[in-house]
Amino acid sequence: MINERVGVYPGSFDPITTGHIDIITRAQGLMDKLIVGVAINTGKSPLFSFDERMEMLRRELGDLPSGNGLAELEVRPIDGLLVQFARSCGASMIVRGLRAVSDFDYEFQMAGMNARMEKDVETVFLMASERHTFIASRLVKEVALLGGDYRSFVPERVGHQLAKAVERYRERAD
Ligand code: ADP
Repeated sequence: MINERVGVYPGSFDPITTGHIDIITRAQGLMDKLIVGVAINTGKSPLFSFDERMEMLRRELGDLPSGNGLAELEVRPIDGLLVQFARSCGASMIVRGLRAVSDFDYEFQMAGMNARMEKDVETVFLMASERHTFIASRLVKEVALLGGDYRSFVPERVGHQLAKAVERYRERAD
């Protein structure tokens, strides 16, 4: 498509939550193609391997509608600088979700740095929906490891994988 509007939504997705899916489905109405970029190096030690995170995203996004005014979805690995990745995808937008004031500081700096490096790529923030404001992958993992009920925070199949990952983690810790 000529003049296709392409956006990139980067993250660790360790694991993908209903909050991420909410941002993705809302962003779909704003562009023609949305590339969900999965960080190879998260800077944290992830619970799920890169391959597992990619596979979970591909599967969950495969179930979402696209076309007819909703952006096509694609999942790709991100290795290196985000703005370079965005440029290589022909993207004009970086999509980020904003939950609380605590997200703002980091996001504000990132958006500023990225704008300096690549003036043709705009960072677009979507405010978390009320239902998802408190959901964060880090907390979902913590709840799961401590034996709490995390099922409403993640898609069903991701919940099953989370249960297995917690088992794996516990076996390693024993
Ligand atoms: P990162 O490792 O960059 O924090 P995440 O996978 O945790 O990656 O998040 C990717 C993006 O999704 C970030 O912009 C983050 O603020 C946003 N996000 C995460 N959870 C939610 C949520 N519940 N509602 C809205 N945005 C969210």
